[in-house]
Amino acid sequence: MIKVGIVGSSGSIGQQALDVIRRNSDRFKVSFLAVNSSVDILIEQGKEFNPDVLVATDSSVKADGVLSGENALVETIEQSDADIFLVSAVGAAGILPALTACKSGKRLALANKESIVAAGRLILETAKKHGTEIIPVDSEHSAIYQCLNGNAVKDIDKVVLTASGGPFRNTPSDALDHVQLDEALKHPNWSMGSKITIDSATMMNKGLELIEARYLFDVLPDMLDAVIHPQSIVHSYVSYKDGSTISQMGYPDMRTPISLALGLPDRLECGVRRLDLTEIGTLTFYKPDFEKYGCLRIAMEVLKKDLNGPMIIMNAANEIAVDTFLSGSCAFLQIADIIEETLSELKVDCAVSLEEILKLDNEARKAAKSVADRMIK
Ligand code: MG
Repeated sequence: MIKVGIVGSSGSIGQQALDVIRRNSDRFKVSFLAVNSSVDILIEQGKEFNPDVLVATDSSVKADGVLSGENALVETIEQSDADIFLVSAVGAAGILPALTACKSGKRLALANKESIVAAGRLILETAKKHGTEIIPVDSEHSAIYQCLNGNAVKDIDKVVLTASGGPFRNTPSDALDHVQLDEALKHPNWSMGSKITIDSATMMNKGLELIEARYLFDVLPDMLDAVIHPQSIVHSYVSYKDGSTISQMGYPDMRTPISLALGLPDRLECGVRRLDLTEIGTLTFYKPDFEKYGCLRIAMEVLKKDLNGPMIIMNAANEIAVDTFLSGSCAFLQIADIIEETLSELKVDCAVSLEEILKLDNEARKAAKSVADRMIK
């Protein structure tokens, strides 16, 4: 049996991973489950999957048979006999568990893009040092992983990430002023948590993913690009110097990348429909409008600088800005304004150690909060 530990089991990725495990119960056993604070879901999942340990990282959680606090999670990962760690916590909260899992020498199925954006070099170097294999769970990066298929980075011409364009892809820029929270939360193709759904609406999600790809695959910023592909069938593609382009396709269902990360080298039955291209008929692609998607423009500028300081600041400011929008306190277009203003106020080029990274992340959150407070007054 392959033992799997899941960080973020109550979230969208965590629940879909448990569905993949449920469908392949002869192959997988759950060794631990961890949530932030959704302890009721955790306990229900515990009854079904019978893991050795249940953890809630929120230290205020008190429940029988559930360990609580961030240290409890780190210790659980350190002591776990899991063969695969799936880290799908949301936001910078994924940094510490991802980094701890990198020291295991096993497999890290990584669904937390913010940890790579903020601490990409540190995570990749730690994994390499300990012989830990990182398999990306983000659909685009799972696609790129498959398109690379052992080809050398020196032979790549371009790595192109596809984006659905989110719920506002047909909304003219000048109408974005008035969009409401419920409209931003309606993603046309993917079913996901609220933070990533807003990130898709602003296209910051694609910006974070470009930075994620820069580290995961060690490709330079000018080799990376994003195109809008409304059908979300081509999940990304890699063009090589010989004129060959390889793409990975499928219906938009996160169980495909999850089952690849859990099942490699095998391909698992995971409940996803087989792709019928005649049913789709037409696939379309076009360039994103940077005027309309200010967050993507900011992220591309940060990517081109290729310094992790601005990446950390942008990521933290985005989390604050999205929270502010989700709480109904700022307008949709102010998300980009908050990020841009925070980047102009806080100038740090690099953060190397975990302590420096977490310190800068914290400073950036504070700066973004005061920017947001000023802006919404
Ligand atoms: Mg993605």
